[in-house]
Amino acid sequence: MDRMRDDLIVEAAAVVTVDPEWKVFAPGFVAVKDGRISALGPAAEGERREAVQRVRAPRAFAMPGFVNAHTHISMAAFRGACEDMPDRLTRFIFPMERDLVDRDLTYWSALHSLVEMARSGTTTFADMYYFEDEVARATDLSGLKAILGETILGHAAPDAPEGYGGIEYARRFIKDWKGHPRIQPCFAPHAPYTVDAEHLGIIAREAESLDVDVMMHVAEMDAEQETFAPLGGSVLRYLDSIPGFLSPRLLAVHMLFVDDEDIGLAKARGLRVAHCPASNAKSGRLICPAWRFAGAGVPLGLGTDGPLSGNGMDMEGVLNVYPKMQKVRERNRGIVAARDAVRAATLGGAEALGLGAETGSLEPGKKADFILVDLDDFNIQPVYDWHSTIVYAMRPHNVLSVYVDGRPVVKDRRMTGFDQDEAAAQMLRISGNCADYIARIS
Ligand SMILES: [Zn+2]
Repeated sequence: MDRMRDDLIVEAAAVVTVDPEWKVFAPGFVAVKDGRISALGPAAEGERREAVQRVRAPRAFAMPGFVNAHTHISMAAFRGACEDMPDRLTRFIFPMERDLVDRDLTYWSALHSLVEMARSGTTTFADMYYFEDEVARATDLSGLKAILGETILGHAAPDAPEGYGGIEYARRFIKDWKGHPRIQPCFAPHAPYTVDAEHLGIIAREAESLDVDVMMHVAEMDAEQETFAPLGGSVLRYLDSIPGFLSPRLLAVHMLFVDDEDIGLAKARGLRVAHCPASNAKSGRLICPAWRFAGAGVPLGLGTDGPLSGNGMDMEGVLNVYPKMQKVRERNRGIVAARDAVRAATLGGAEALGLGAETGSLEPGKKADFILVDLDDFNIQPVYDWHSTIVYAMRPHNVLSVYVDGRPVVKDRRMTGFDQDEAAAQMLRISGNCADYIARIS
């Protein structure tokens, strides 16, 4: 009999599935067995099932957890520093990282961001930074899922004094963390303008032999475009001249300077794209033709980018910017319907991370990665269309509970895996240490 019993049944005012038919059950239930969704459907069906534990949430709705397809969570210690400065990356961010980033800052900043991400409904994310093993340690504690890339630079990095030392660091990181049930380590060459073609080729071959992904900023910066477009017609076509680099292993982040030929090339090479509309807009950059990538069948996810460039680590802040910016870009209000935006922030992100078969939507057999969202708040009522509510009305504070593999990682807005108050206190200590340095260079 116990084999028939679910481990958990959650009953909610609605279950928004993001499945191929866009099914919504209102009211509905989600049943969990061994970390996976064993069934879901109308509430009456859930009543007839037996479960070890039953959570009744009549004033909340369930939806897939958000997937943040690009960030640098350990930059939380620098959030809000050196805003509005010209040449911010090279004049301020690189020196700040060189002088301030160590294991302590990386770990506690990651933990701080993980609280923010989880409490706003993110269950899976992709990150790239230095000391990525510290990010992995923090992620492991939080209960979230992640693809984590060790950053590789052609010049000295906080965790590698020699240029390209990140490759050896990444090898060790991958060896130590490969096979973890929720964390996939990978290579993260920073960008085409900080990693040369020879080393991108080496990284592509290593990724192939170790069977891991590669994530990289692509076609983001003006100077990058000026340097590489003359070589092959575009940054992406330059990268295509490096044997094996453009492959289904690559998660290409940003993709701002791209034309129709590049969109076709991305599709042909099996690339995946992470689109960061809020951080790109803040920097006054181009708008990625994200809707065109999705239309061409390229897996498309949304990312916050790091706390320095994207500030908020919540997906709600990106989710409503995505359709608005695409409508502005194309001067067409008929594109990126609310449900398409919800898909990009959940299943699209999972597909962009290569996890689409396991997470991103609520369907039987998939991992039970879902969130419960409060319906009793002024910003979220009234509800006429669930997808529209999620994109344009929902805010981070509406998220009540977060489940990963059917286990609560956030319960009543508190982390279950570690003491979130300690994470807040450690951030005060670390940002206090950073304050003099930041004031001096600002
Ligand atoms: Zn980035």
